[in-house]
Amino acid sequence: MRIAIIGAGAAAVGVLDALAVGEAGIGAGEITVFEPSAHLWRGRPYGPDLDSVLVNAPPAIMSIRHLDFGHYASWLGPERAAAHLDDLLGQPLVPRALYGSYLADTAEAALAALRERGWRTRVVADRIVAAAPSDGGLGLTLRTEGGHDHPADRVVLCVGGGSPQDHYGLGGAPGFVGDPYPLAYTLGHVPAAADVAVIGSGLTAVDVVVSLAARGHAGRITLVSRRGMLPHVWQRPLGHRPVHVTVERVQALRREHGGVTLDDLAGLLRADLAETGEDFALFTAELSAARSEEPVRRLRRQLAAVDDPRIGRRVLQETAHTVGPYAWRLLPEPDRERLRRHLRLATSLASPMVPVNAAALLRLFESGQLTMVAGVRKIEAVEGGFLARGAGGDLNAGVVVNAVNPPPQAVPRAAEPLVTSLLADRLAALHPSGGLVPADPCLHVVGDLAGGGPFITSSIPGVAAAGARTVGGLPATHTG
Ligand SMILES: Cc1cc2nc3c(=O)[nH]c(=O)nc-3n(C[C@H](O)[C@H](O)[C@H](O)COP(=O)(O)OP(=O)(O)OC[C@H]3O[C@@H](n4cnc5c(N)ncnc54)[C@H](O)[C@@H]3O)c2cc1C
Repeated sequence: MRIAIIGAGAAAVGVLDALAVGEAGIGAGEITVFEPSAHLWRGRPYGPDLDSVLVNAPPAIMSIRHLDFGHYASWLGPERAAAHLDDLLGQPLVPRALYGSYLADTAEAALAALRERGWRTRVVADRIVAAAPSDGGLGLTLRTEGGHDHPADRVVLCVGGGSPQDHYGLGGAPGFVGDPYPLAYTLGHVPAAADVAVIGSGLTAVDVVVSLAARGHAGRITLVSRRGMLPHVWQRPLGHRPVHVTVERVQALRREHGGVTLDDLAGLLRADLAETGEDFALFTAELSAARSEEPVRRLRRQLAAVDDPRIGRRVLQETAHTVGPYAWRLLPEPDRERLRRHLRLATSLASPMVPVNAAALLRLFESGQLTMVAGVRKIEAVEGGFLARGAGGDLNAGVVVNAVNPPPQAVPRAAEPLVTSLLADRLAALHPSGGLVPADPCLHVVGDLAGGGPFITSSIPGVAAAGARTVGGLPATHTG
């Protein structure tokens, strides 16, 4: 079998690792990976960058080997773990570039293992711009930007998520940073005394603020956003395993009722909370308060609650990534729509910030260097900088950094020509709520672009699970 993998980020590593360790019964064949970036296996998040740009999660959920929660931790080893310990979380949090080395080592080990089993492997440093059915009707032929054709029996799209959008039309204005990564490059162009407005208040905005501070930025920093909601703060892992919010319980509900509703899922969470004597109503009231509570007050309270033994937030946050993708597909559309309306709150909960960053943010807020402005309606380039207009008045800045995350299931810019070609040849279709759905059995999509997936962006456990599922679905063959 000839397998082509388009893109060499975390999702591709998950696919290769699953192929290497899997018992899928797939006989040796050929694997070709296409990736134009010089930073193989790292994708958008894990390339070389500042040491202040950290992974957003503890080791147990950064393992690219599906269900092997210790895989990344054992690569890291005790010495590196100790050197990167986040004291508040009690877990190591490494720079994202170091995590990229884990991905690279895992991919290279998988390729070596596959070669030992007789596979031919190669990496082509080019972008795929088109795909068409192969002559003879079996498989697809991929075309690179360089004009070469590559036939494949199976094609796995691992092209990542969307690119940041320029909501205020500031592209090209001097002092505007449209895409902040790598911060080592973009922040290098920000004068230390400049007043900086960061658009957004999610994890990317946190990365920008923390990295500005780590570089000794002296100017004012303002988080400019519509809602003014910061991510929640990670709590220390307790090793608690939910017994009700599980895939098995959701499967059982589906068998009993023929489907699953949001109320059913809330019932499972209520049952898990009841196991530890926690009040469900109090828990949901605390979550809803994120919309109205003053953000710095909330940040301070959350930082103080890193050790809080209550399991509610931990269960919801973990299962959003583990049970969520499965349950999402079973929900009736009105329930999905209800969840989509709470995208910002759900994202802030499912992808919290690490305590070390929360503490840095709080210090900056308390010193007055960092402020937050919500209700911004317009930002425009004016002479010598930018003017943000909002409910609370006007704000001037010399530099604007765009930290708005792309919507889930958006098409990454580098994959636009390929997606256009797949749609034109009816090899795939756009899902009504975003993303791509294969219409040809030779085509698979792993990662954020997969249509019909959950409304929150994918994480490492999500892409690892999807990669393993894709490999598990490949036909067993014994041809070379
Ligand atoms: C800044 C950032 C930080 C994150 N941090 C975390 C974290 O700490 N923990 C966590 O669990 N999740 C995190 N995530 C979530 C993230 O989605 C996953 O961690 C993971 O990187 C997704 O991997 P991927 O392979 O799907 O996409 P990517 O990593 O984006 O890789 C896609 C690759 O496809 C290539 N490509 C695109 N188009 C083509 C084409 N036409 N031809 C060939 N190649 C192509 C790109 O060059 C790229 O290398 C983060 C996401 C971002 C954006």
